[in-house]
Amino acid sequence: MANQKIDYVFKIVLIGDSAVGKSQILSRFARNEFSIDSKATIGVEFQTRTVVIQHKSVKAQIWDTAGQERYRAVTSAYYRGAVGAMLVYDITKRQSFDHIPRWLEELRGHADKNIVIILLGNKSDLESQRAVPTEDAKEFAQKEGLFFLETSALESTNVETAFLTVLTEIFNIVN
Ligand code: GDP
Ligand code: MG
Repeated sequence: MANQKIDYVFKIVLIGDSAVGKSQILSRFARNEFSIDSKATIGVEFQTRTVVIQHKSVKAQIWDTAGQERYRAVTSAYYRGAVGAMLVYDITKRQSFDHIPRWLEELRGHADKNIVIILLGNKSDLESQRAVPTEDAKEFAQKEGLFFLETSALESTNVETAFLTVLTEIFNIVN
């Protein structure tokens, strides 16, 4: 693994309101870790994980917002060169879903027009506190041409699938 040949590097950005679980989704995917009392992200720009797709090694370089989730505070450098995006809301916070069209607009304003986007409804383990029906999100994703999954970084549900969906789609576009 140390001297593994890398065939592709794909930059992926995580966006969405504060506290929806972006950093935990990333640490679940990159290090298989989860922390209940995660501090607001500061400093760390990205983490990487290399996966194999159709016998090629693909390094995902995943960028996490460093507490810039206020509207329009994410800089264009963050989006530069991104070929994939994960747009995250919290299924227990209606407001985080209502803000998705803004995030999408900002993303489309800054990123490449062929960027692959997945909408993620995180914290699916908190079903009893659900405030966003799956159908609403599914319908929105369909209308906007986004992939869609509900995830739980806590229980590790669909996190791997979410990244592999985006990475495989990007892989197929460049091949
Ligand atoms: P960020 O601000 O979007 O990066 O959110 P964080 O990753 O820091 O997570 C915010 C809070 O939600 C933390 O207390 C996490 O432990 C919690 N959290 C993140 N993902 C999940 C999840 O899938 N389920 C539950 N129950 N809590 C989560
Ligand atoms: Mg964070």
